[in-house]
Amino acid sequence: MTAQIISGVKISEEIRAELAEKVKTIRAKGITPGLAVILVGEDPASVSYVTGKAKAAEEIGVHEETFRMSASTTEAELLNKIASLNKDTKFHGILVQLPLPKQIDEKKVINAIDPAKDVDAFHPVNVGKMLIGEPDFMPATPSGIVELLMRSGNDPSGKHVVICGRSNIVGKPIMAMLVQKVKGGNATVTVTHTGTKDLTNFTRQADILIAATGIPQMIKGDMVKPGVVVIDVGVNRVEDATKKSGFRLVGDVDFEAIKEKAKAITPVPGGVGPMTITMLMVSTVRAAEKQLKAK
Ligand code: NDP
Repeated sequence: MTAQIISGVKISEEIRAELAEKVKTIRAKGITPGLAVILVGEDPASVSYVTGKAKAAEEIGVHEETFRMSASTTEAELLNKIASLNKDTKFHGILVQLPLPKQIDEKKVINAIDPAKDVDAFHPVNVGKMLIGEPDFMPATPSGIVELLMRSGNDPSGKHVVICGRSNIVGKPIMAMLVQKVKGGNATVTVTHTGTKDLTNFTRQADILIAATGIPQMIKGDMVKPGVVVIDVGVNRVEDATKKSGFRLVGDVDFEAIKEKAKAITPVPGGVGPMTITMLMVSTVRAAEKQLKAK
């Protein structure tokens, strides 16, 4: 069996085209969805994510502004910036690019964003609302995973989903989304982590396996059952002397081995990655729609 390759690039394009239409309608009613992105410092990966967000926003007609602050910015300066953006009606969404320099407490920053503008859905209010099944915003990477499953014809309903990883940005929120009794959810979910004994015993039971460990290619071919659907969240750099950059990107699963056994699999790059930015745009447009309804 050779697996269906679930393309995050193609599914992202579909969603962005739908969003561009939505944005036209919203703008016709007098509101331009606005996203404020704060970048502290010049970490190359962060700069590249922020550039990607700005490009995606422009493509679909969202007004985006990136506020660049120096690496020596104090916590108080950043909190002041957030407070002023919370009040600025041009922006429906605010996003602070993580990670932040050491002198700034990430938790304080996340808590300072108005939950109504928290398009990343990292604020405890939004995390709680998602858990009880009443979300205003969904975190981008996990909701991208749900879209990848649904739009590729791999509805998780009734399936056993095994998640490897329990981080607050991937493992836990995707667990919370998939157990809800809603379209795109209704799965039986197992979450594994470094405390799990005999990981293979669990991964082999998965109808759908979501790998989010940050360990390059740790899920091997013999760790999954034939017909599994694999979502590989991992983005890992491994040395590769044949590349100009000296590295290549690999996921958390052994793609070549697993694609011979799986029903479907996401590639790295080109799987979950492109969906993350697209789903951030979905949240920004949703925030603007809410404002329109409240008018
Ligand atoms: P974290 O490092 O925060 O979490 C990793 C999780 O994996 C932890 O819960 C850890 O367990 C678990 N883990 C580590 N080793 C094992 C193991 N041997 N068996 C089972 N579980 C294990 O990572 P993130 O969740 O932030 O990211 C995971 C991966 O996804 C990374 O490669 C990251 O780059 C990528 N990523 C990609 C995104 C995208 O847009 N494509 C977005 C976000 C992340 P424990 O809790 O016990 O330590």
